[in-house]
Amino acid sequence: MAMQTEWLVPLAQPRQKKRLCELCLGPAHVRCAACLVTYYCDVDHQNADWVSVHAKICQLLIPLRAAPPFYTSEKERKIGEEQRRNREIFLAEVTYEAAQKFLIEGHHEDAIPAGLHALKFSISIYGSSALELVPPYITLAETSLGLGHLRQGEEYLSQAQWIVLKNSHCSHHVQSKLYRNLGLLHAAKGNLDESLYHFANDVYFACCAFGTTNNVAVSGGFFHMANVFSHQNKMDIVDSLYCEVVDLWYDHFSQFVESQYQKLITPAEVDLLTVEDRTLVDVLDDRQRSEATQMLNFILDFREATLRPQPEKKAKLLHTLAMFHYLVHDLAKADEFVMRFLQTAQSLPKRDPNESLYHLVKLIKTKQEWVK
Ligand SMILES: [Zn+2]
Ligand SMILES: [Zn+2]
Repeated sequence: MAMQTEWLVPLAQPRQKKRLCELCLGPAHVRCAACLVTYYCDVDHQNADWVSVHAKICQLLIPLRAAPPFYTSEKERKIGEEQRRNREIFLAEVTYEAAQKFLIEGHHEDAIPAGLHALKFSISIYGSSALELVPPYITLAETSLGLGHLRQGEEYLSQAQWIVLKNSHCSHHVQSKLYRNLGLLHAAKGNLDESLYHFANDVYFACCAFGTTNNVAVSGGFFHMANVFSHQNKMDIVDSLYCEVVDLWYDHFSQFVESQYQKLITPAEVDLLTVEDRTLVDVLDDRQRSEATQMLNFILDFREATLRPQPEKKAKLLHTLAMFHYLVHDLAKADEFVMRFLQTAQSLPKRDPNESLYHLVKLIKTKQEWVK
């Protein structure tokens, strides 16, 4: 489906007689037959919205868009308004989550309508300069950058930046995401020095949000900085930043693998299933999972393509990937990376047995037995 249209920010749509498209605010010619309260310029926009989020929220929109009831008392009116607000808050959450999900899966086009609705509901609830608008703006920016629509992405980021500047209470986590996207924008525009500045801010705010030790939230900033240095052909810096990224994930996964191993060898606590279900949620959310795969596989390609093979660094990366796949329940892949680790480790000087790898192998085997 062609979706080259520049998406507009749907600011307050006045209650006018003329119906406007839900997505682009153009004159409407079609209406959703299921809710009868949603309009579109054409079938393409209707389909795009349906696939993105309208199927989920179609019926929920009816009470919001139908003519307001006649209230007989002030109390009734207050209750009615509160219900309306709660409904909008719920819709803002549902649409934001839908946009995030598509974004994480790499379906950028499908994320746009949901992201626009999340923004629209947030504006309606909180006003046009509230901090609550920053996450949907960032999501829309990330989506636009993913589609190569740099100008559109830049506009969304300027809106987000403007709100952050006017509010002194923006969370460090959100600021880290904002700077990450500013970095990506400038990297895509070829402003490499400026992108490094933004990625450094990303790392700084990720440290403020989650601490300086063992913090995988800084890995994204380091990773993107490395990619910029790679464009500048500063390969020593690239190498050390990639090592830093791998070390962060290695330490992060090791903690969980070790704690599962300790539970495995502790009698009376062999219920591996409940252990892993709990830890999996703690280990990685969907976004981290997707970021970890992206970064680690990218670095593996880099290590395999380099003219200067560094088996020790590659071995640590393969071990990290083996732990990752074990923790996300992909035992076949975990096994495969253990084998690749062993092959790579053969070319390393003999050293003490790798206890941590032994623990991982033991866990993989136990889980494979359990799954049978
Ligand atoms: Zn339209
Ligand atoms: Zn509908």
